[in-house]
Amino acid sequence: MLSPEDSDRIRGAFPELRERVNGVPLVYLDTAATALRPAGPVEHESHFSLTRTAAVNRGAHTLAAEATEAFDDARAIIARFIGARPNDLVFTSNATESINLVALAFRLASAVGGPARFALTAGDEIVVTESEHHANLIPWQEVAKSTGAVLRVAPITDDGVLTAESVESVLTDRTKVVAFPSVSNVLGIVNPVRQISDAAHRVGALVVLDACQSAAHAPLDVDSTGADVIAFSAHKMYGPTGIGGLWGSADVLAEMPPVLTGGSMITRVDFDSADYLPAPAKFEPGTPRLTQAIGWADSVRFLDDIGMDRVAEHESSLGEIMYRLVSEVPGVRVLGTNVGVERVGLVSFAVDGVHPHDVGQYLDSKGVAVRVGHHCAQPLHKRLGVDSSTRMSLGVYSTLTDVEVAVDALSRVRGFFGEP
Ligand code: PMP
Repeated sequence: MLSPEDSDRIRGAFPELRERVNGVPLVYLDTAATALRPAGPVEHESHFSLTRTAAVNRGAHTLAAEATEAFDDARAIIARFIGARPNDLVFTSNATESINLVALAFRLASAVGGPARFALTAGDEIVVTESEHHANLIPWQEVAKSTGAVLRVAPITDDGVLTAESVESVLTDRTKVVAFPSVSNVLGIVNPVRQISDAAHRVGALVVLDACQSAAHAPLDVDSTGADVIAFSAHKMYGPTGIGGLWGSADVLAEMPPVLTGGSMITRVDFDSADYLPAPAKFEPGTPRLTQAIGWADSVRFLDDIGMDRVAEHESSLGEIMYRLVSEVPGVRVLGTNVGVERVGLVSFAVDGVHPHDVGQYLDSKGVAVRVGHHCAQPLHKRLGVDSSTRMSLGVYSTLTDVEVAVDALSRVRGFFGEP
Protein backbone atom coordinates (compact mmCIF):
# COMPACT_ATOMS: atom_id res chain seq x y z
CA MET A 1 0.00 0.00 0.00
CA LEU A 2 1.04 3.63 -0.37
CA SER A 3 3.04 5.05 2.52
CA PRO A 4 1.11 7.39 4.86
CA GLU A 5 3.19 10.31 3.50
CA ASP A 6 2.36 9.50 -0.13
CA SER A 7 -1.25 8.91 0.75
CA ASP A 8 -1.46 12.28 2.56
CA ARG A 9 0.15 14.01 -0.40
CA ILE A 10 -2.29 12.42 -2.84
CA ARG A 11 -5.29 13.14 -0.64
CA GLY A 12 -4.16 16.74 -0.33
CA ALA A 13 -4.76 17.14 -4.06
CA PHE A 14 -8.49 16.41 -3.70
CA PRO A 15 -10.41 19.31 -2.10
CA GLU A 16 -13.61 17.27 -1.78
CA LEU A 17 -11.86 15.01 0.72
CA ARG A 18 -11.73 17.95 3.10
CA GLU A 19 -15.51 18.30 2.95
CA ARG A 20 -17.66 17.37 5.89
CA VAL A 21 -20.89 15.54 5.18
CA ASN A 22 -23.60 15.52 7.83
CA GLY A 23 -21.10 17.02 10.27
CA VAL A 24 -18.48 14.29 9.79
CA PRO A 25 -15.52 13.95 7.41
CA LEU A 26 -16.39 12.56 3.98
CA VAL A 27 -15.43 8.95 3.32
CA TYR A 28 -15.74 8.62 -0.43
CA LEU A 29 -16.28 5.03 -1.51
CA ASP A 30 -18.01 5.70 -4.83
CA THR A 31 -15.08 6.08 -7.19
CA ALA A 32 -16.38 3.30 -9.46
CA ALA A 33 -19.32 5.59 -10.29
CA THR A 34 -17.35 8.83 -10.65
CA ALA A 35 -13.91 9.62 -9.26
CA LEU A 36 -13.22 12.82 -7.34
CA ARG A 37 -11.14 15.43 -9.11
CA PRO A 38 -7.67 16.62 -8.19
CA ALA A 39 -7.35 20.40 -7.90
CA GLY A 40 -4.36 20.82 -10.23
CA PRO A 41 -6.03 19.46 -13.37
CA VAL A 42 -9.27 21.33 -12.62
CA GLU A 43 -7.37 24.58 -12.11
CA HIS A 44 -5.41 24.06 -15.30
CA GLU A 45 -8.59 23.21 -17.20
CA SER A 46 -10.25 26.32 -15.87
CA HIS A 47 -7.21 28.53 -16.58
CA PHE A 48 -7.06 27.09 -20.09
CA SER A 49 -10.76 27.88 -20.59
CA LEU A 50 -10.23 31.45 -19.49
CA THR A 51 -7.12 32.07 -21.55
CA ARG A 52 -6.99 29.68 -24.50
CA THR A 53 -10.54 28.81 -25.55
CA ALA A 54 -10.77 29.02 -29.33
CA ALA A 55 -11.81 26.95 -32.33
CA VAL A 56 -9.89 23.71 -32.77
CA ASN A 57 -8.79 22.76 -36.30
CA ARG A 58 -10.28 25.94 -37.77
CA GLY A 59 -9.34 29.57 -37.83
CA ALA A 60 -6.18 31.27 -38.95
CA HIS A 61 -5.37 33.03 -35.71
CA THR A 62 -2.89 32.36 -32.95
CA LEU A 63 -5.41 31.35 -30.28
CA ALA A 64 -6.99 28.80 -32.62
CA ALA A 65 -3.56 27.38 -33.45
CA GLU A 66 -2.69 27.11 -29.76
CA ALA A 67 -6.04 25.51 -28.92
CA THR A 68 -5.48 22.96 -31.69
CA GLU A 69 -1.98 22.20 -30.45
CA ALA A 70 -3.21 21.75 -26.85
CA PHE A 71 -6.03 19.51 -28.03
CA ASP A 72 -3.64 17.34 -30.07
CA ASP A 73 -1.21 17.17 -27.13
CA ALA A 74 -4.04 16.06 -24.83
CA ARG A 75 -4.95 13.23 -27.18
CA ALA A 76 -1.29 12.19 -27.38
CA ILE A 77 -0.98 12.12 -23.57
CA ILE A 78 -4.11 10.03 -23.07
CA ALA A 79 -3.14 7.71 -25.92
CA ARG A 80 0.33 7.19 -24.44
CA PHE A 81 -1.27 6.35 -21.08
CA ILE A 82 -3.00 3.36 -22.71
CA GLY A 83 -0.10 2.41 -24.97
CA ALA A 84 -1.86 3.64 -28.10
CA ARG A 85 -1.16 5.80 -31.14
CA PRO A 86 -2.99 9.15 -30.92
CA ASN A 87 -4.82 8.53 -34.20
CA ASP A 88 -6.38 5.37 -32.80
CA LEU A 89 -8.02 7.21 -29.90
CA VAL A 90 -11.42 8.72 -30.64
CA PHE A 91 -12.93 11.19 -28.19
CA THR A 92 -16.57 10.55 -27.35
CA SER A 93 -18.91 11.79 -24.59
CA ASN A 94 -18.40 8.74 -22.40
CA ALA A 95 -17.91 4.99 -22.55
CA THR A 96 -21.60 4.49 -23.29
CA GLU A 97 -21.29 6.57 -26.43
CA SER A 98 -18.07 4.75 -27.37
CA ILE A 99 -19.83 1.39 -27.28
CA ASN A 100 -22.84 2.80 -29.10
CA LEU A 101 -20.64 4.13 -31.92
CA VAL A 102 -19.42 0.60 -32.53
CA ALA A 103 -22.87 -0.98 -32.16
CA LEU A 104 -24.43 1.62 -34.46
CA ALA A 105 -21.67 0.98 -37.01
CA PHE A 106 -22.87 -2.64 -37.08
CA ARG A 107 -26.48 -1.54 -37.53
CA LEU A 108 -25.56 0.87 -40.31
CA ALA A 109 -23.28 -1.54 -42.15
CA SER A 110 -25.85 -4.33 -41.84
CA ALA A 111 -28.59 -2.10 -43.27
CA VAL A 112 -26.65 -0.75 -46.25
CA GLY A 113 -24.33 -3.66 -47.04
CA GLY A 114 -21.33 -1.94 -45.49
CA PRO A 115 -17.88 -3.37 -44.78
CA ALA A 116 -17.94 -7.15 -44.22
CA ARG A 117 -16.51 -6.96 -40.71
CA PHE A 118 -19.46 -4.80 -39.61
CA ALA A 119 -22.28 -6.27 -41.72
CA LEU A 120 -24.40 -8.82 -39.89
CA THR A 121 -27.04 -11.07 -41.36
CA ALA A 122 -29.85 -12.98 -39.65
CA GLY A 123 -28.44 -15.82 -37.59
CA ASP A 124 -25.07 -14.19 -36.95
CA GLU A 125 -24.22 -14.14 -33.28
CA ILE A 126 -23.20 -11.51 -30.75
CA VAL A 127 -21.74 -12.67 -27.45
CA VAL A 128 -22.01 -10.70 -24.23
CA THR A 129 -21.61 -11.93 -20.66
CA GLU A 130 -23.84 -12.22 -17.63
CA SER A 131 -21.72 -9.58 -15.91
CA GLU A 132 -22.47 -6.78 -18.34
CA HIS A 133 -23.20 -3.17 -17.45
CA HIS A 134 -26.29 -2.05 -19.40
CA ALA A 135 -23.98 0.12 -21.51
CA ASN A 136 -22.42 -2.99 -23.01
CA LEU A 137 -25.66 -4.95 -23.24
CA ILE A 138 -28.50 -2.78 -24.55
CA PRO A 139 -26.62 -1.47 -27.62
CA TRP A 140 -26.04 -5.13 -28.62
CA GLN A 141 -29.68 -6.02 -27.96
CA GLU A 142 -30.59 -3.26 -30.40
CA VAL A 143 -28.10 -4.55 -32.97
CA ALA A 144 -29.61 -8.02 -32.64
CA LYS A 145 -33.15 -6.64 -33.02
CA SER A 146 -32.38 -4.67 -36.12
CA THR A 147 -30.22 -7.25 -37.91
CA GLY A 148 -31.76 -10.60 -36.91
CA ALA A 149 -28.53 -11.53 -35.15
CA VAL A 150 -28.78 -13.70 -32.05
CA LEU A 151 -27.54 -12.43 -28.69
CA ARG A 152 -25.77 -15.15 -26.75
CA VAL A 153 -24.83 -14.71 -23.12
CA ALA A 154 -21.68 -16.28 -21.64
CA PRO A 155 -22.46 -17.45 -18.10
CA ILE A 156 -20.56 -16.56 -14.95
CA THR A 157 -20.26 -18.95 -12.01
CA ASP A 158 -22.43 -18.52 -8.91
CA ASP A 159 -19.32 -16.89 -7.41
CA GLY A 160 -19.31 -14.28 -10.18
CA VAL A 161 -16.32 -15.62 -12.09
CA LEU A 162 -16.17 -15.26 -15.88
CA THR A 163 -13.79 -17.76 -17.44
CA ALA A 164 -12.44 -17.87 -20.96
CA GLU A 165 -13.92 -21.38 -21.20
CA SER A 166 -17.35 -19.97 -20.44
CA VAL A 167 -17.04 -17.49 -23.29
CA GLU A 168 -15.67 -20.23 -25.55
CA SER A 169 -18.69 -22.38 -24.76
CA VAL A 170 -20.97 -19.91 -26.56
CA LEU A 171 -18.68 -19.13 -29.51
CA THR A 172 -19.53 -20.56 -32.91
CA ASP A 173 -18.44 -19.87 -36.45
CA ARG A 174 -21.36 -17.39 -36.61
CA THR A 175 -20.01 -15.26 -33.73
CA LYS A 176 -19.25 -11.80 -35.10
CA VAL A 177 -18.89 -9.79 -31.89
CA VAL A 178 -17.67 -10.62 -28.40
CA ALA A 179 -18.35 -7.80 -25.92
CA PHE A 180 -17.24 -8.07 -22.31
CA PRO A 181 -15.89 -6.02 -19.38
CA SER A 182 -12.30 -6.03 -18.14
CA VAL A 183 -13.81 -5.79 -14.65
CA SER A 184 -17.49 -5.93 -13.75
CA ASN A 185 -18.71 -2.80 -11.99
CA VAL A 186 -20.57 -5.00 -9.50
CA LEU A 187 -18.18 -7.88 -8.92
CA GLY A 188 -14.77 -6.19 -9.04
CA ILE A 189 -13.19 -9.38 -10.39
CA VAL A 190 -10.54 -8.93 -13.07
CA ASN A 191 -11.55 -10.97 -16.11
CA PRO A 192 -9.09 -13.01 -18.20
CA VAL A 193 -9.14 -10.39 -20.93
CA ARG A 194 -6.38 -11.68 -23.18
CA GLN A 195 -7.65 -15.25 -23.10
CA ILE A 196 -11.17 -14.15 -23.99
CA SER A 197 -9.92 -11.89 -26.80
CA ASP A 198 -7.82 -14.71 -28.22
CA ALA A 199 -10.74 -17.15 -28.08
CA ALA A 200 -12.98 -14.61 -29.84
CA HIS A 201 -10.39 -14.02 -32.54
CA ARG A 202 -10.10 -17.75 -33.20
CA VAL A 203 -13.68 -17.61 -34.53
CA GLY A 204 -13.06 -14.31 -36.32
CA ALA A 205 -15.18 -12.13 -33.98
CA LEU A 206 -14.58 -8.46 -33.26
CA VAL A 207 -13.63 -7.95 -29.62
CA VAL A 208 -15.28 -5.05 -27.76
CA LEU A 209 -13.74 -4.45 -24.35
CA ASP A 210 -15.46 -2.31 -21.74
CA ALA A 211 -12.48 -1.06 -19.71
CA CYS A 212 -14.42 1.46 -17.59
CA GLN A 213 -13.64 -0.21 -14.29
CA SER A 214 -9.97 -0.90 -14.89
CA ALA A 215 -8.60 2.09 -16.81
CA ALA A 216 -7.81 4.10 -13.65
CA HIS A 217 -7.03 1.17 -11.38
CA ALA A 218 -4.43 -0.89 -13.24
CA PRO A 219 -2.04 -0.27 -16.12
CA LEU A 220 -3.87 -0.48 -19.45
CA ASP A 221 -1.92 -1.46 -22.54
CA VAL A 222 -4.29 -1.73 -25.47
CA ASP A 223 -2.18 -4.22 -27.41
CA SER A 224 -1.88 -6.61 -24.46
CA THR A 225 -5.66 -6.84 -24.14
CA GLY A 226 -5.97 -8.30 -27.64
CA ALA A 227 -9.19 -6.27 -28.05
CA ASP A 228 -10.20 -4.59 -31.30
CA VAL A 229 -11.98 -1.69 -29.64
CA ILE A 230 -11.94 -0.46 -26.05
CA ALA A 231 -14.34 1.92 -24.31
CA PHE A 232 -13.57 4.00 -21.23
CA SER A 233 -14.68 7.21 -19.51
CA ALA A 234 -12.65 10.16 -18.20
CA HIS A 235 -14.85 10.75 -15.16
CA LYS A 236 -13.84 7.38 -13.73
CA MET A 237 -10.19 8.39 -14.17
CA TYR A 238 -10.22 11.57 -12.06
CA GLY A 239 -11.03 13.53 -15.22
CA PRO A 240 -14.04 15.61 -16.23
CA THR A 241 -17.48 14.38 -17.19
CA GLY A 242 -18.50 14.81 -20.81
CA ILE A 243 -15.59 13.01 -22.41
CA GLY A 244 -14.69 9.39 -22.97
CA GLY A 245 -12.54 7.32 -25.24
CA LEU A 246 -12.97 4.77 -27.94
CA TRP A 247 -9.68 3.16 -28.80
CA GLY A 248 -9.66 0.99 -31.91
CA SER A 249 -6.95 -0.83 -33.77
CA ALA A 250 -6.00 1.12 -36.88
CA ASP A 251 -7.47 -1.42 -39.31
CA VAL A 252 -10.77 -1.66 -37.44
CA LEU A 253 -11.17 2.13 -37.26
CA ALA A 254 -10.31 2.37 -40.96
CA GLU A 255 -13.12 -0.04 -41.81
CA MET A 256 -15.68 1.12 -39.26
CA PRO A 257 -18.36 3.36 -40.78
CA PRO A 258 -19.07 6.63 -38.94
CA VAL A 259 -22.63 6.98 -37.68
CA LEU A 260 -22.29 10.62 -36.73
CA THR A 261 -21.40 12.91 -39.60
CA GLY A 262 -20.98 16.62 -40.27
CA GLY A 263 -18.26 19.23 -40.23
CA SER A 264 -14.61 18.63 -39.33
CA MET A 265 -14.58 15.02 -40.49
CA ILE A 266 -14.37 15.37 -44.26
CA THR A 267 -11.87 15.93 -47.05
CA ARG A 268 -14.42 16.72 -49.79
CA VAL A 269 -18.14 17.39 -49.88
CA ASP A 270 -20.59 17.97 -52.71
CA PHE A 271 -24.37 17.76 -52.73
CA ASP A 272 -24.42 14.01 -53.36
CA SER A 273 -21.59 12.67 -51.29
CA ALA A 274 -18.59 13.30 -49.09
CA ASP A 275 -15.18 11.74 -48.42
CA TYR A 276 -14.16 11.30 -44.84
CA LEU A 277 -10.92 11.98 -43.05
CA PRO A 278 -9.23 9.00 -41.41
CA ALA A 279 -9.71 8.28 -37.69
CA PRO A 280 -9.95 9.90 -35.25
CA ALA A 281 -11.49 12.85 -37.16
CA LYS A 282 -13.82 10.47 -39.02
CA PHE A 283 -15.62 9.79 -35.74
CA GLU A 284 -15.51 13.30 -34.28
CA PRO A 285 -17.83 15.52 -36.29
CA GLY A 286 -18.49 19.01 -35.01
CA THR A 287 -16.65 21.17 -32.54
CA PRO A 288 -14.59 18.90 -30.31
CA ARG A 289 -14.47 18.63 -26.52
CA LEU A 290 -11.51 20.92 -26.05
CA THR A 291 -11.56 21.76 -22.35
CA GLN A 292 -12.58 18.27 -21.36
CA ALA A 293 -9.65 16.81 -23.29
CA ILE A 294 -7.27 19.20 -21.52
CA GLY A 295 -8.68 18.21 -18.12
CA TRP A 296 -8.57 14.52 -18.91
CA ALA A 297 -4.94 14.69 -20.07
CA ASP A 298 -4.03 16.39 -16.80
CA SER A 299 -5.79 13.73 -14.74
CA VAL A 300 -3.89 11.07 -16.66
CA ARG A 301 -0.64 12.92 -15.95
CA PHE A 302 -1.64 12.95 -12.28
CA LEU A 303 -2.00 9.14 -12.35
CA ASP A 304 1.21 8.74 -14.32
CA ASP A 305 3.12 10.78 -11.74
CA ILE A 306 2.03 8.34 -9.04
CA GLY A 307 2.66 5.36 -11.32
CA MET A 308 -0.07 2.96 -12.33
CA ASP A 309 1.70 -0.04 -10.81
CA ARG A 310 1.64 1.68 -7.42
CA VAL A 311 -1.98 2.72 -7.90
CA ALA A 312 -2.96 -0.85 -8.72
CA GLU A 313 -1.00 -2.32 -5.82
CA HIS A 314 -2.44 0.16 -3.32
CA GLU A 315 -6.03 -0.30 -4.37
CA SER A 316 -5.96 -4.07 -4.71
CA SER A 317 -4.26 -4.53 -1.31
CA LEU A 318 -6.71 -2.18 0.37
CA GLY A 319 -9.53 -3.77 -1.61
CA GLU A 320 -8.63 -7.20 -0.29
CA ILE A 321 -8.83 -5.87 3.29
CA MET A 322 -12.14 -4.18 2.50
CA TYR A 323 -13.49 -7.41 1.00
CA ARG A 324 -12.49 -9.40 4.08
CA LEU A 325 -13.83 -6.87 6.60
CA VAL A 326 -17.14 -6.43 4.76
CA SER A 327 -17.67 -10.18 4.42
CA GLU A 328 -17.04 -10.62 8.18
CA VAL A 329 -19.97 -8.31 9.07
CA PRO A 330 -22.84 -10.52 10.28
CA GLY A 331 -25.81 -10.58 7.89
CA VAL A 332 -23.81 -9.29 4.94
CA ARG A 333 -23.48 -11.31 1.73
CA VAL A 334 -20.74 -10.21 -0.64
CA LEU A 335 -21.34 -10.67 -4.37
CA GLY A 336 -18.45 -12.37 -6.15
CA THR A 337 -15.58 -14.37 -4.76
CA ASN A 338 -12.07 -13.36 -3.78
CA VAL A 339 -10.71 -16.88 -4.07
CA GLY A 340 -8.48 -17.70 -7.03
CA VAL A 341 -9.15 -14.38 -8.75
CA GLU A 342 -7.55 -10.98 -9.05
CA ARG A 343 -9.74 -8.11 -7.87
CA VAL A 344 -9.83 -4.32 -8.00
CA GLY A 345 -10.81 -2.33 -4.91
CA LEU A 346 -14.55 -2.74 -5.20
CA VAL A 347 -17.02 -4.80 -3.22
CA SER A 348 -20.80 -5.10 -3.61
CA PHE A 349 -22.97 -6.76 -1.03
CA ALA A 350 -26.50 -7.39 0.21
CA VAL A 351 -27.48 -6.79 3.83
CA ASP A 352 -30.04 -9.25 5.22
CA GLY A 353 -33.37 -7.58 5.88
CA VAL A 354 -32.26 -4.05 4.91
CA HIS A 355 -32.86 -2.50 1.50
CA PRO A 356 -29.71 -1.06 -0.12
CA HIS A 357 -31.28 2.39 -0.20
CA ASP A 358 -31.62 2.27 3.58
CA VAL A 359 -28.05 0.98 3.87
CA GLY A 360 -26.87 3.87 1.70
CA GLN A 361 -28.81 6.43 3.68
CA TYR A 362 -27.50 5.16 7.01
CA LEU A 363 -23.91 5.14 5.71
CA ASP A 364 -24.39 8.63 4.31
CA SER A 365 -25.49 9.82 7.73
CA LYS A 366 -22.04 8.70 8.92
CA GLY A 367 -20.32 10.53 6.03
CA VAL A 368 -19.75 7.37 3.99
CA ALA A 369 -20.62 7.76 0.31
CA VAL A 370 -21.47 4.50 -1.46
CA ARG A 371 -23.52 3.46 -4.47
CA VAL A 372 -26.79 1.59 -4.03
CA GLY A 373 -29.21 0.01 -6.49
CA HIS A 374 -28.61 -2.25 -9.47
CA HIS A 375 -25.59 -0.24 -10.69
CA CYS A 376 -26.88 -0.47 -14.28
CA ALA A 377 -26.54 -4.24 -14.11
CA GLN A 378 -30.04 -5.60 -13.55
CA PRO A 379 -29.52 -8.97 -15.30
CA LEU A 380 -26.36 -9.57 -13.27
CA HIS A 381 -28.13 -8.88 -9.98
CA LYS A 382 -30.95 -11.21 -11.01
CA ARG A 383 -28.37 -13.87 -11.87
CA LEU A 384 -26.88 -13.49 -8.38
CA GLY A 385 -30.30 -13.80 -6.76
CA VAL A 386 -30.73 -10.20 -5.56
CA ASP A 387 -32.56 -7.15 -6.92
CA SER A 388 -29.93 -4.67 -5.91
CA SER A 389 -26.88 -4.16 -3.73
CA THR A 390 -24.64 -1.67 -1.97
CA ARG A 391 -21.22 -1.02 -3.47
CA MET A 392 -18.08 0.35 -1.88
CA SER A 393 -15.33 1.26 -4.33
CA LEU A 394 -11.85 2.65 -3.80
CA GLY A 395 -9.75 5.24 -5.52
CA VAL A 396 -6.11 6.21 -5.31
CA TYR A 397 -6.97 8.49 -2.36
CA SER A 398 -8.66 5.76 -0.30
CA THR A 399 -7.13 4.75 3.03
CA LEU A 400 -7.42 2.00 5.59
CA THR A 401 -9.19 4.51 7.84
CA ASP A 402 -11.83 5.04 5.13
CA VAL A 403 -12.43 1.30 4.99
CA GLU A 404 -12.52 0.93 8.78
CA VAL A 405 -14.95 3.84 9.22
CA ALA A 406 -17.20 2.43 6.49
CA VAL A 407 -17.16 -1.11 7.84
CA ASP A 408 -17.80 0.12 11.37
CA ALA A 409 -20.87 2.02 10.10
CA LEU A 410 -21.96 -1.01 8.07
CA SER A 411 -21.77 -3.23 11.13
CA ARG A 412 -24.39 -0.99 12.81
CA VAL A 413 -26.85 -0.93 9.91
CA ARG A 414 -28.87 -4.02 10.78
CA GLY A 415 -29.17 -3.04 14.42
CA PHE A 416 -30.29 0.47 13.44
CA PHE A 417 -33.09 -0.99 11.32
CA GLY A 418 -34.16 -3.37 14.10
CA GLU A 419 -32.79 -6.54 12.50
CA PRO A 420 -31.69 -9.18 15.02
N1 PMP B 1 -19.33 0.01 -18.21
C1 PMP B 1 -19.03 -0.12 -16.92
C2 PMP B 1 -18.44 -1.39 -16.43
C3 PMP B 1 -19.29 0.93 -16.05
O1 PMP B 1 -19.01 0.81 -14.74
C4 PMP B 1 -19.85 2.13 -16.56
C5 PMP B 1 -20.17 3.30 -15.64
N2 PMP B 1 -20.93 2.93 -14.53
C6 PMP B 1 -20.12 2.21 -17.92
C7 PMP B 1 -19.84 1.13 -18.73
C8 PMP B 1 -20.69 3.43 -18.53
O2 PMP B 1 -19.85 4.51 -18.36
P1 PMP B 1 -20.39 5.99 -18.68
O3 PMP B 1 -21.60 6.17 -17.83
O4 PMP B 1 -19.27 6.87 -18.28
O5 PMP B 1 -20.70 6.02 -20.12
